[in-house]
Amino acid sequence: MTFASLGLIDPLLRTLEALDYRKPTPVQAKAIPAVLKGRDLMAAAQTGTGKTAGFALPMLQRLLQEGPPVGSNATRALVLVPTRELAEQVHESFRTYGQGLPLRTYAVYGGVSLNPQMMALRKGVDVLVATPGRLLDLYRQNAVKFGQLQALVLDEADRMLDLGFSQELDELFAALPKRRQTLLFSATFSDPIRQMARELLRDPLSIEV
Ligand code: AMP
Repeated sequence: MTFASLGLIDPLLRTLEALDYRKPTPVQAKAIPAVLKGRDLMAAAQTGTGKTAGFALPMLQRLLQEGPPVGSNATRALVLVPTRELAEQVHESFRTYGQGLPLRTYAVYGGVSLNPQMMALRKGVDVLVATPGRLLDLYRQNAVKFGQLQALVLDEADRMLDLGFSQELDELFAALPKRRQTLLFSATFSDPIRQMARELLRDPLSIEV
C-alpha cells in the first residue's frame, strides 16, 4: 500500500517523501480515500496512530482542488480540539503537510489575548484549528464566519466532553452550515459520543484501529 494508491496528489506525495513517511498507517489507509471522496467518518483512533495525517492530508487536497470561494475571507475547514497543546500540535501538522501549498492555517485557543486572533481571522484562513471556548468567544464577537465551511473535524471528541465543552460545542454546531463533511475522532465511544455522532454525521464510515 502506498500513499499514491490512496489517491493523494503529487505535491502532498513529495512532502510525505521528504518527511520519510514510507507507507500509510492503518487509520490513514482507511481514512484518506474516504475523506477524499467527501464521506463522513467516525474513527476510534488514539494518538500515535497517525490520525492527524489521516484527516489533514485529504482535507488539504480537497481544499486545494475546490479552490477558495472568490473574494472570501471565510473559514473553509474547522478542526475542534480539546486543549491549547493539541491545537498547536494539529496546527503544526497542517503546516507541515501543507508546506508549499497556497492554504492558510491558523490556531485559536484561550489563555492568550483575543486581538491578534481577531486580526488574523479578518484576513482569512482556510483551516482553523480551535478550542471550543475561544472559538465561541470569537464567533459571538463576529470575528469568524462559517458560511463557507466545507469540513468540520472533531479531534479527541471524548476529551472535549470530559473537559465540559458540550454546551459550547452545541452552540457552535448550530452556527455551522448543515451541508458539510464531518469527521469525528475519539479514543472511546461512550453513549454521549455516539449521540453526538448520530446528530452530526451523515452515513459515516466507521473506522476502528
Ligand atoms: P498522530 O497519531 O497523528 O499524533 O501521529 C503520530 C506520529 O506519527 C507523528 O509524529 C507523525 O509525524 C508520525 N506519522 C504519521 N503518519 C506516519 C507515517 N505514515 N509514517 C511515518 N510516520 C508517521
